Amino acid sequence: MPHVINEKCLGEVYATCAEVCPVDAIHPGQYQGEAFMTIDPDTCIDCGVCLPECPIGAIVGSTDDSPEWAKINAELAPQFKSNPKAPVRPANDPPRKPGNKLVK
Ligand code: SF4
Repeated sequence: MPHVINEKCLGEVYATCAEVCPVDAIHPGQYQGEAFMTIDPDTCIDCGVCLPECPIGAIVGSTDDSPEWAKINAELAPQFKSNPKAPVRPANDPPRKPGNKLVK
């Protein structure tokens, strides 16, 4: 069961997760007109390293935790894969969306 990035990442993209992923499974791109990141389910080895790195808690540990976004991650992965890396935002940078809160 791969890890999944959910709607909290839309318009945020801290990209701290991609920095720690040992298999380069996390890729940035645009979804519904906003910056987003996706986890490629075919590459993810479910190590769990990325989950605590997201400052707003936008990663869940299983497709069962977010089936809708698991589908979106899988659909976007092929097109996001070849995109250049996103610049990393500091973990204490305040979220851009009013509904998001720093969790670490
Ligand atoms: S769980 Fe591990 S392999 Fe999967 S995306 Fe996160 S850091 Fe990468």
